[in-house]
Amino acid sequence: MTPASPILLSDIGNVLVAFDFTVAARRCAERCPHPTEQLFHRLDDIKGPYENGEMDDKTFVHEAIKALDFEGSEEEFKTIWCEIFTENTAMKATLQRVAGRVPMYLLSNTSGLHKDYLLSNFEIFRNFQSGVYSYSAKCSKPHESIFRVTIEELGLDPATTFFVDDLPANIATAQAMGFQAHCYQMDQHEAFEAALSSWLQSFAISL
Ligand SMILES: [Mg+2]
Repeated sequence: MTPASPILLSDIGNVLVAFDFTVAARRCAERCPHPTEQLFHRLDDIKGPYENGEMDDKTFVHEAIKALDFEGSEEEFKTIWCEIFTENTAMKATLQRVAGRVPMYLLSNTSGLHKDYLLSNFEIFRNFQSGVYSYSAKCSKPHESIFRVTIEELGLDPATTFFVDDLPANIATAQAMGFQAHCYQMDQHEAFEAALSSWLQSFAISL
């Protein structure tokens, strides 16, 4: 019998990269007739449907520009919308030690614009073979449906998959479905490393 092989499945936001929408709101506000503080609430009705794949990139950009009364071009809006991320260097260092020994996949509630931007701008994503994203799966965490899609599409066995995410609701669903799961906090990276290390030990892999 082939020994079970471990898989790492990771969320993106506040795990692999930190993000701050207020940066984008401030930059947008320079081109909008509305105050910064409440600006992105104008997108509340379209942001969810966009991340769930009910609206494509082009429609979202068009609708967002309209809702914000943004006075720049579509390209300018897309740039501002995407430049909100900072790579988690501690996580990058840890994952580079695992790369090549454990297959890694992504599971994220995200949009097409952000996913494409992230994967082409941050080295940390080079560690990952592929992933499942809410906008293309047309469902999102914490619902079981996206975990089922992930298991199916990536051929995962939850029993040998370590899932990391920063939101307790996502962790709860993953655990209920049999994944080993760790609730990540940026300021407690050592706790993640310890949990990952002890899990890898059970497959005779040392971190
Ligand atoms: Mg997250």
